[in-house]
Amino acid sequence: MNEPRHALIAGAGIGGLAAALALKNQGWQLQILEQSAVLSEVGAGIQIGPNITRILHHWGLQDALQACAFEPERLVSRSALYGHELGVLPLGQAMRERFAAPYFTIHRADLHGVLLQALDQALTQGSSAAHAQLELGQTVQSVSLKDGVQVQTNTQSLQAALLIGADGLWSRVREALWQDGQPTPTGHVAYRALMPMADLPAALRNPQITVWLGPALHVVQYPVRGGQAMNVVVIAHNHADAQQGWDHLVTAHEVLLATAQVCGPLRALLDAMPAWQRWVLFDRAPLPHAQAMAQGRVALLGDAAHPMRPYLAQGAGMAIEDAQALAVALQDRPIPDALAHYAQQRWQRNARVQARARRNGRIFHLSAPWSVARDVALRIAGPQLMNLPWLYGHVAPGT
Ligand SMILES: Cc1cc2nc3c(=O)[nH]c(=O)nc-3n(C[C@H](O)[C@H](O)[C@H](O)COP(=O)(O)OP(=O)(O)OC[C@H]3O[C@@H](n4cnc5c(N)ncnc54)[C@H](O)[C@@H]3O)c2cc1C
Repeated sequence: MNEPRHALIAGAGIGGLAAALALKNQGWQLQILEQSAVLSEVGAGIQIGPNITRILHHWGLQDALQACAFEPERLVSRSALYGHELGVLPLGQAMRERFAAPYFTIHRADLHGVLLQALDQALTQGSSAAHAQLELGQTVQSVSLKDGVQVQTNTQSLQAALLIGADGLWSRVREALWQDGQPTPTGHVAYRALMPMADLPAALRNPQITVWLGPALHVVQYPVRGGQAMNVVVIAHNHADAQQGWDHLVTAHEVLLATAQVCGPLRALLDAMPAWQRWVLFDRAPLPHAQAMAQGRVALLGDAAHPMRPYLAQGAGMAIEDAQALAVALQDRPIPDALAHYAQQRWQRNARVQARARRNGRIFHLSAPWSVARDVALRIAGPQLMNLPWLYGHVAPGT
């Protein structure tokens, strides 16, 4: 292609960094614009299934991931009210054998760090084709499509051949071009806590992923930081407050009120957590068509394109799949054709994951009598219901 290969990436979250890494050997001059003055990836633990680790391994991140991720042997669902086991999905070796890649749990900051370090290495030691600049304190304020793409940040006007909107849930790129309104509050909040494993009573140091299901709430716990820390997230119905983002410290009393009915063993875990932060959850309806992911020379990626509820544990995963698909599409096509191809390849899968995440939320939070039917189904067919070959077996283009 003889087009100028100057691309802007709005946002240096997991999606923006993944896009930069996937594109780093294609001769692009990449300029990553991040609104934060300091890169400190907030958040908590996330799960990354074999559909994602396969891509990360393809990018050469196997050792770096292995050093900070954790590989649980099982995913166990339990009753939040009574504590008994409902169903089990074998992970560990079973996942590796089935999908040729591991199922990991990892702290978001660690995954972000792995991506950032890999990008850094590619720039300092790697191929001469890699040109990327990460600019902090750069908030994308407006976008227009004229002679390529024009972007106005808080301090500069930029022109490029391609813009990747990886600026998350409240994407300005999306707002500027699609003008399709704001994400909607789900009525659910996430309370998360992290604690060094060594500080937990021995009986609570469970090395598996446990998902506790209860009426209008569920709780997920698993180790992160190579097993050195326990991550706990409570998701509960709560319409009271619509503050955006992480880092809203809440009292243990608020968490206690949200989880008053849970069983003894779960209560013990929640009570052991030293501090809680609240994250109000928003999403959008599943993508309606391909044009919702790309137009002309602008592509959306990750939460900017398809914010989803976290009940399938795939939001960051879909951002990484998007990044790989986008890079492959751009390899040998003119930019608008490449973006149309990318959108066509990605929108239905993303829409399916968004819809399935919403459905999981409804199932997780059922009350009696419907929860009884759910529990029976999990007991009889747990592994089949929880193992999702269409999701975990997806092989991204070029991997
Ligand atoms: C409770 C919870 C649990 C989750 N668990 C999982 C899980 O287990 N597995 C999983 O895969 N996913 C999970 N997710 C989802 C996952 O965290 C997100 O989907 C993912 O982080 C999205 O990445 P992103 O890069 O698209 O957006 P973000 O991480 O939001 O990054 C966007 C970046 O853009 C920057 N930015 C924003 N606006 C501008 C602007 N105007 N100009 C410049 N920069 C800007 C932001 O500062 C940020 O750095 C979970 C989410 C929640 C809430």
